[in-house]
Amino acid sequence: LKQRLSDPGLFRTESYVDGKWVSGETRFQVSNPANREIIAEVCDVGEAGAREAVAAAHDAFARWKKTSVFERARLVQRWHELIMEHVADLGTLITAEMGKPLKEARGEVAYGASFVKVSAEEATRLHGETMATQFPGTRGWTIRQPVGVVGCITPWNFPSAMITRKCAPALAAGCTMVVKPAPETPLSALALAELAERAGIPKGVFNVICGDATKIGPVLTGSPEVAMIGFTGSTEIGKLLMRQAADGVKRVSLELGGNAPFIVMDDADIEKAADGVLASKFRAGGQTCVSANRIIVQEGIADRLAEALKARIEKVKVGSGFDDGVDVGPLIHDEAVTRVGRLVENAREQGASILAGGRSLADELGGSFYAPTLISGGHAGLDIARNEIFGPVASLYRARDEAEILRLANDTPFGLAAYVYTRDIGRVHRITEGLDYGMVGVNAPMVGSSTTPFGGVKESGIGREGGKWGVEEFTELKFVMLGDV
Ligand code: ADP
Repeated sequence: LKQRLSDPGLFRTESYVDGKWVSGETRFQVSNPANREIIAEVCDVGEAGAREAVAAAHDAFARWKKTSVFERARLVQRWHELIMEHVADLGTLITAEMGKPLKEARGEVAYGASFVKVSAEEATRLHGETMATQFPGTRGWTIRQPVGVVGCITPWNFPSAMITRKCAPALAAGCTMVVKPAPETPLSALALAELAERAGIPKGVFNVICGDATKIGPVLTGSPEVAMIGFTGSTEIGKLLMRQAADGVKRVSLELGGNAPFIVMDDADIEKAADGVLASKFRAGGQTCVSANRIIVQEGIADRLAEALKARIEKVKVGSGFDDGVDVGPLIHDEAVTRVGRLVENAREQGASILAGGRSLADELGGSFYAPTLISGGHAGLDIARNEIFGPVASLYRARDEAEILRLANDTPFGLAAYVYTRDIGRVHRITEGLDYGMVGVNAPMVGSSTTPFGGVKESGIGREGGKWGVEEFTELKFVMLGDV
């Protein structure tokens, strides 16, 4: 893999703590899910490494918070430039460790980098307000200050963007970071650390530590020096971290699981809706928290939508993300293939029809592959309707009218992204307002942009990433009362 990079210096297997590359006592293997080859052995710095990183970030915070926001923004902008200069290599690392097609991987790097740029800009515009109070002769004002040391735990599905989306706003706001990436995808994280070092971000400000989550997690949530936990991942682990963080009343920002409804109303442009389902469903092989999970279609057009989807899904090309023309890569590992297979089998046993795919391609293609799948005739009780699929499986549900559609769409503990296709402006208002979700795409199959607030309600999380909201997330609002002296 190192030879494949035009800048081999981006291939790092040690952790980055206090401006130094440090190793641990043991190593863990990173493999390519498309062919199961071992591509790296990465150091596990364990609990001791986590403690050192927290101490370094704490030390650095005292200095970093006092630098001017223009200086911080300048360094973060430099980081952005370096990430964009190395888009090709960073994309290669993502495809190798996570599997998504190279074009998509490079798209992720650029998408993640856009948060770096926007965060640097937004941080310079943070400001307080002045206000009157009820006490004669007094004035009040607010200032925004960085929260402190942020412990950040990130997932494998966006190995680059989930890190930049948290770290860039935090760094620009004046926080220091300890990042623990997913064990499946440490290489992208370490390459970002290498580039942060080259950008001149001072030692201790940005630390990346790899290793056993059950050893490192409790250090982050349990250290009094850590002020905030930022996490993207499963709802189960998000709840665990929130419980652990509760002892220190730490701030948490959680971006957790979803169960996105993709609603197609009978006045929608069916071809565009079908394109939208494909874009939302098959990006990253369906392994994103905003992937369409339940395609809820109004009865009158259900057969036509199913046909349009079937025709498209049969053309989706599956293979190694390094091969030309591949649309969908492997799932993250073999257990994911088994899990997705089980959801599809349960739907089949309960009477749903499999219109396309419906099988593992692991033996055929020699990696963790599952065939793009279309299921019809599902109902709300199926496992596949209640759980986040995290795989290339589109499942259709029929419903009569707006009321039934909204009831079905909201019938889940999750509330991250939802989508609706309709050309009726009245429906747009009623449905967007009626959906219990943090984000709604209307005639749009995506909801993430570096300038907009990304986040969920209910069990999908707390807090927002992106734009000014993403920067404010890493600040405390302080109030100052000035008396009449
Ligand atoms: P997934 O099941 O998709 O891997 P997880 O929520 O388990 O999602 O993983 C997301 C991130 O959380 C990863 O970085 C993982 O290492 C980390 N993680 C998993 N278990 C724990 C834990 N007990 N404490 C802290 N972090 C954890």
